[in-house]
Amino acid sequence: MSSDVTVLMANLSGQHFIDGVLVAGEGPTTPVIDPATEQICAVFAEATTAEIDTAVAAAMRAQRAWWALSALERTEALHEVATALAEVAPLVGEVMTREMGKPFVESNWEGGTSASSLRYYAELARHDQGRVAGAALPGQTHLTLKEPLGTVVSIVPFNFPVLLFGWQAAASLAAGNAVIVKPSELTPMTLLALMEAFSVLPPGLVQVLTGGAEVGAALVGHPDTHAVAFTGSVTAAQAVARTAAERFKPVLIEASGNDPFIVMPSAPIDMVARGAAFAAFLNCGQVCTSAERFYVHDDVFDEFVEGLVIEARSLRLGSGLERVDLGPMASERERQRVEAIVARAVEQGAAVLCGGKRPEALPTGWFYEPTVLEVTHEMDLMHGETFGPLAPVCRVSSLDEAIALANDSEVGLGANIYTEDLAEAFRAVHELETGIVWVNTPLNDNDAVAFGGRKLTGSGRELGIEGLEQFRRSKMVMIAPEARPDPEWFPYADEDAFPG
Ligand code: NAD
Repeated sequence: MSSDVTVLMANLSGQHFIDGVLVAGEGPTTPVIDPATEQICAVFAEATTAEIDTAVAAAMRAQRAWWALSALERTEALHEVATALAEVAPLVGEVMTREMGKPFVESNWEGGTSASSLRYYAELARHDQGRVAGAALPGQTHLTLKEPLGTVVSIVPFNFPVLLFGWQAAASLAAGNAVIVKPSELTPMTLLALMEAFSVLPPGLVQVLTGGAEVGAALVGHPDTHAVAFTGSVTAAQAVARTAAERFKPVLIEASGNDPFIVMPSAPIDMVARGAAFAAFLNCGQVCTSAERFYVHDDVFDEFVEGLVIEARSLRLGSGLERVDLGPMASERERQRVEAIVARAVEQGAAVLCGGKRPEALPTGWFYEPTVLEVTHEMDLMHGETFGPLAPVCRVSSLDEAIALANDSEVGLGANIYTEDLAEAFRAVHELETGIVWVNTPLNDNDAVAFGGRKLTGSGRELGIEGLEQFRRSKMVMIAPEARPDPEWFPYADEDAFPG
């Protein structure tokens, strides 16, 4: 560990970031384990009720000051944050790799991508603040005015801690809100380290409270928080949505995926195998939009599987701070869960074509080999989120069959198809029951294009104009330039009374 990061992680241990400063937490602490070394690298504190109340009060004050600025002043401040985010990205990236294992190239990249989202929303939010409608009464001005919601509770998972917080914070802040983030128990130091980039904003506008599910639940249920942006598992999302519903708080839910990946004969199979390896194994498959189920046409099945196995075997595993393609899984529990999924698949008749075990050369750390399995659609692993470095491949005989099996899922985040047949591509775009369809370009996104899922994956959208609207509410405003009598007022004309 570089000495800067050693000192930083020691200084951040047990702290919260409240009202613009680091505050020593008074709640019980839990260690954070480096998944590559299995050594304790930090500790985080469970935020207490008093600390939560203090942060919520600070957020309310800061939000009023933030909204009192001009739209241009907010835009300029957010651009400054974006510049600072890019500057702190390598330091924060090293903390992230220490906490959850991903290769440094990926953790360093997250800061830059958050900066890009901030710049996009900084400009979008000042572009308009509602709309002027054609007036329903002569001489008047009728508006749909957009206002912030107040304090947004951001709850993020471990797999992309900076990118996902960056998306939520960018849209929330640009819309005029304050944000309190509750990081994952696996990546609390990452979010605390990131706060340096937000120091130009009013104290209290962006705060970090560490802890587990109870801290998240307390923030969601708090009478003085006003909206929730949740990214994580379906079970946690359902609990969050139920609590928020008690107070009718708007909730953005980005939960689990089980993305299909269809391969048709017209696609260049060597290229598809590379794209498939990236889509299945990036971040050890701990990506909400990982390709989790491969449906491959009979005509190219053998060629595809052979190519994917070669790709999987060529990936370099090791500490994310070395020259590797894959780090360890984020926690011991995650690796055990994946091992159980593979054991069950084998019990149900799956053939392990490569991987399927811990790498012998890496006895320390929660490593797991990238794994390719030949499966059928009925097996359990095709019907839940595996969230591990697994590529289960299933034969299909037509696009009809591939789309039908792809749609046989309780969740609906993303879907991939590889084809160079335009008609097949358009059918997939229109018929796949997901919030995202990628044709020959897996896992990409764009600040300006709405991201999100269907079915149990959730509700609401991030990114694009839709992502900004998630954190604004409308106010109906009608303005008559002078106080004049309205023809609808009392007294009613006798000729309009009931004729009987
Ligand atoms: P998780 O659900 O265990 O935890 C996510 C966050 O929710 C954590 O901060 C956790 O402390 C908090 N939490 C858990 N229960 C809560 C409760 N009852 N009330 C309030 N907060 C609570 O998820 P994870 O294991 O950290 O992340 C993996 C999951 O995230 C996967 O299912 C993945 O698909 C999903 N994910 C979805 C997207 C998306 O955009 N759809 C993006 C990334 C990850």
